[in-house]
Amino acid sequence: MMKEIKKILVANRGEIAIRVFKTAKKLGIKTVAVYSTADRNSPHVAFADEAVCIGEPPSSKSYLLANKIIEVAKKLKVDAIHPGYGFLSENAQFSQKVSDAGLIFIGPRPQAIRTMGSKLAAKEAVKSYKIPMVPGIDQAVTDVEKAVTIAKEIGFPILIKASAGGGGKGMRVVEKEKEVKSQMERAISEATSAFGDGSVFIEKYIESPRHIEIQVLADDHGNFLYLFERECSIQRRHQKVVEEAPSAIVTEEIRQKMGEAAVNVAKSCDYLGAGTVEFLMDADKNFYFLEMNTRLQVEHPVTEWITGTDLVAEQIRIAEGKPISFKQEDLNINGHAIELRVYAEDSFNDFAPSIGLLSTYQPPKGKDIRVDDGFREGMDVPIYYDPMLSKLITFGPSRIEAIEKMIEAIDHYHVEGVETTLPFGKYVCQHKAFRSGQFDTHFVKNFFGEKDRELYYEKEAKIAAKVALLTYLKQKNSLSLPSKIAKPAVKVVFNQ
Ligand code: ADP
Repeated sequence: MMKEIKKILVANRGEIAIRVFKTAKKLGIKTVAVYSTADRNSPHVAFADEAVCIGEPPSSKSYLLANKIIEVAKKLKVDAIHPGYGFLSENAQFSQKVSDAGLIFIGPRPQAIRTMGSKLAAKEAVKSYKIPMVPGIDQAVTDVEKAVTIAKEIGFPILIKASAGGGGKGMRVVEKEKEVKSQMERAISEATSAFGDGSVFIEKYIESPRHIEIQVLADDHGNFLYLFERECSIQRRHQKVVEEAPSAIVTEEIRQKMGEAAVNVAKSCDYLGAGTVEFLMDADKNFYFLEMNTRLQVEHPVTEWITGTDLVAEQIRIAEGKPISFKQEDLNINGHAIELRVYAEDSFNDFAPSIGLLSTYQPPKGKDIRVDDGFREGMDVPIYYDPMLSKLITFGPSRIEAIEKMIEAIDHYHVEGVETTLPFGKYVCQHKAFRSGQFDTHFVKNFFGEKDRELYYEKEAKIAAKVALLTYLKQKNSLSLPSKIAKPAVKVVFNQ
């Protein structure tokens, strides 16, 4: 059914609400923001044509209030609701309620969300498509004895995972038989409290894994497309911090295989809209299906940059009942893009949350730099929501140029008042393992320990001192009056 969208409500906050509004404005679509009292002065509220307060700061009293949000949408004669990511974005009931209210949900149909929202149901759905899976069981297990038998069959180490899991929660690595019982109990209780569903299952723990995912698009005209891969292996607590496209290790042949597998996953649940199929890749470059995320991903900008597409515009077209605006054969990879999630976290203290007032907030600007954010100088970082301040994205014709651009952008990003992951991003970009493409999801554990950090800062301090001395000597010997001294770019490249 074709229906033109003239007004969109974004059931979200911060950078992603602004991201969607930007495309809506470009397309001449009117915009509505919703907000909690904690976000009264947020840029996403000011950015929209209209804004409605929907409740108190805790998300259960505002951003998760499905009925309230739909009520606002109807009252303001909105045509469609975009859920962003997080909050209600992967809630099948919400998608259903929006349609039932006669509005368009910019996302997949409820059944696809439901199937892919459960890791076990997802495994079941893709079975007939011969998608490679991590060795393991595809059923929930509660019995410890049975779990031990299965674990022995698969071989240690194993991973106990919550079926309803997300955000790295409810996941436990088990090295030895005697730990199965206690770790299973912990995984079940974590899953029950986080997701209200204690089903857990067992997977082989892939050693030295890389997280590589494929962006897909599907419309109502039978088109299923893949927009190549994103590598998201630089993680902390099983959650992504640095993402890039394309991956440094994916060959054309693997890319096509993964792309086709991802399209099949999308077909298996009759997918509609933009989605992401996540895979793990082992050291021998075998890939295994992990799960599908049925929404726009945080890291979507890197794909947009290398493919020259606007994924939100495609989501809107698809929701209107139109076909995707390009074909598979029109898509090419052009250059390289990297994203750093700038979290209000102290990277040097186990990435602990760092909340407070943003006394200085000056993002970098310039060619090949994109900053998607939802903060302004002088704002508080609220404790109620995800601690992501922004996404810093850089582009380069080659991977190394994109990395250099990222270092430059980080150097020009000034934040005071809270600790951020900016120094961690710079560390990653200067590290030999990352630069050479030889890394896995254990980067933090393997290369960001206290000793590594000490060594790094010692070196950086020494180089900074040398640069300062050279600058001084140069200026002393030259006859010109020292005017403005350009800040030397301090570059440290690891040789381990
Ligand atoms: P969530 O839904 O909680 O994000 P995922 O299944 O997407 O969980 O996995 C998140 C991360 O956990 C992966 O990117 C990877 O780092 C790690 N992981 C998941 N499954 C495995 C596995 N079988 N072996 C090794 N690491 C894994």
